[in-house]
Parts: sequence; structure tokens; C-alpha cells
Amino acid sequence: MASRIHVRLKEQSWLAKLAAWKLKSPSVAMVLGDVIHLHGVSREEFLNQPGWLRHEACHVRQFRRYGFWRFLYLYAWESARNGYYRNKFEVEARRSENDASVLQDILIL
Ligand SMILES: [Zn+2]
Repeated sequence: MASRIHVRLKEQSWLAKLAAWKLKSPSVAMVLGDVIHLHGVSREEFLNQPGWLRHEACHVRQFRRYGFWRFLYLYAWESARNGYYRNKFEVEARRSENDASVLQDILIL
């Protein structure tokens, strides 16, 4: 039996608010483990943008692939070396935006 990945959405997250300020973006979704933190976007608005949802679902998978702390470390290292856009984890997440299979076995709570 395939195991489900239970993903929680956290609206009005202060962590996402901090990220929004840093990225100078009005709305932000950021993933920490199995939780997608939202700022400036409601749960409903977020779920109605399949590309965005798939992008963040890819990050949830990355956290699970490497483990929580290891992924944070690798992500920071990639960002420092390649910047945000060319960070290989962001490249993969952007590719996933058009790939519905990234949502397979993911259950949004
Ligand atoms: Zn991303």
C-alpha cells in the first residue's frame, strides 16, 4: 500500500511573511517539511493555482528525500552558490509545475 504524504497548509504564517518581506513579494508560499506556509494568499487561492501547488509539493518531496535539516543545509548551500533562480532545487520545482504526477500520494489537509 502506497503511503500518503500528509501536507498541511498554514495560512497567515509569520515565517512566510518574513520571506515575503525579504523577497519583496506580496504573496509567498514556503515549505518547511510537510507544511506549506502561506502569506498574502488564502488556502483557497493557493489550491486554485495548480502550477504553484505542484511547485511547493516538489519542495515537500525534496525535504523527504534528503531529510529536514540536511535539505535546509543543501538548499542554503545551493542558494549561496547559484542564487535563488539557478538553485537546482528551484529548477526542479519549476519543472514540476507542469507535472501533475508530483501531487501523487499527496494529501492536502
Ligand atoms: Zn521554490
